[in-house]
Amino acid sequence: MEQSRGLRLILLPLPFQGHVNPMLELGNLLHAKGFSITIVHTKFNSLNPSSHPHFTFHSIPVDLSESEKAVRPISLLNAKCVEPFRECLASLLSDAEEDPVACLISDPFFHYTRSVAESFELPRILLRTGGATSLVVYAAFPLLKEKGYLPIQDARLEEPVTELSPLKVKDLPGKDNSDPESIYQLITNMANEPKASSGLIFNTFEDLEQHALATLRQETYPNIPIFPIGPFHKCDSAPSSSTGLLAEDQSCISWLNTQAPKSVVYVGFGSIAAVKEAQFLEIAWGLANSNHPFLWVVRPGLVHGSEPLPDGFLESLNGRGHIVKWAPQKEVLAHPSVAVFWTHSGWNSTLESICEGVPMICMPCFGDQMANARYVSDVWKVGVQIEHGIERAEIEGTINLLMVEKEGEEIRDRALKLMEKANLCLKEGGSSYQSLDGLVEHILSIKS
Ligand code: UDP
Repeated sequence: MEQSRGLRLILLPLPFQGHVNPMLELGNLLHAKGFSITIVHTKFNSLNPSSHPHFTFHSIPVDLSESEKAVRPISLLNAKCVEPFRECLASLLSDAEEDPVACLISDPFFHYTRSVAESFELPRILLRTGGATSLVVYAAFPLLKEKGYLPIQDARLEEPVTELSPLKVKDLPGKDNSDPESIYQLITNMANEPKASSGLIFNTFEDLEQHALATLRQETYPNIPIFPIGPFHKCDSAPSSSTGLLAEDQSCISWLNTQAPKSVVYVGFGSIAAVKEAQFLEIAWGLANSNHPFLWVVRPGLVHGSEPLPDGFLESLNGRGHIVKWAPQKEVLAHPSVAVFWTHSGWNSTLESICEGVPMICMPCFGDQMANARYVSDVWKVGVQIEHGIERAEIEGTINLLMVEKEGEEIRDRALKLMEKANLCLKEGGSSYQSLDGLVEHILSIKS
């Protein structure tokens, strides 16, 4: 710890909620280990420095128009950030008042950081904000193409991907995309990035993704040190500052306080996933018909089109439902009234649910979410998937399966056992605890 004092780390989060949260949490962990933390963020989805007064923030003048946001935003950000980041880094490195910079930590989707770091001879470590399993899947894309699984053919959706058991073809990304090739390219570039890095950090833990971590260490990146140090937000040293791009509605907690223990279905589909109007209505009626209390995050943009909740829908439920635009999700999942999490299976949401022992109903939409959901339902067995379309009777049945049926009881028991493992790995001597110490030593050994 003493050796890290007086050294600075520059962190570059990809400016999307599911990437920003873990990067800032990682900053907290490394700050607690003695490093100074500088965050470089874009004008697009810019961050609020007052949420982390112990960090230094530098904004680079990179924004996306509405039309740019809709098509290939990550590729555009990579192109637009190069020069502004180079200038920003030059000024940070030449500032004699600031602590010397030990290394960069960037998101692997920001591949532009490679050439910039190299030109300043700065080591670069990557934080993969998704799971290790999904990175194994992404790294296998060239093989999956060769074997004919990709591009996905509708007739093969239910077939197993034998090389990646228990995944099915429908669990691979690109299914509903009009331009799957560009997605495959983006993902393949991302999966190649660790090969040109000084290390790879994961927000996961050994006991959860042992197999995938072993594959990455032995086969995919045999020369790159890998540090699974999650779950970040449960580490003792992680202050619980809000990192939301939207304001959290605290009425969630006061409403949950009025509900019975383990009675509420929490419904939230993350920051990007969207549903069609008809699906939105099915969700609403499925929740209403289930007869269980529910807390539902209806974020602006969740519904393609308008938000067609029938007039008087909530009133007719006599307080059994509460709808907000954005929730303090970690607090919600830790609340004793929450019984089940109906999620889109983003990696952060999945991990946050696992940490609180809350069983999941998975409704994955794109990217790594299908693989995450497959692991929740078929490997860890701490949840179930809605696999046959979003339809009110299936929703009602799935909620009841988890809340009241025997099969649900077994799933709930397993979720509690997995929660214990998530907590143990962070304790002194636990795998993530040790791996974090290993990361600090590694940074000190590679520092420029
Ligand atoms: N989140 C939140 N409030 C909400 C919905 C989501 O704080 O109402 C947070 C959630 O806790 C998680 C992140 O936003 O940390 C979403 O990340 P995830 O990987 O689950 O999904 P993404 O938004 O990237 O699809």
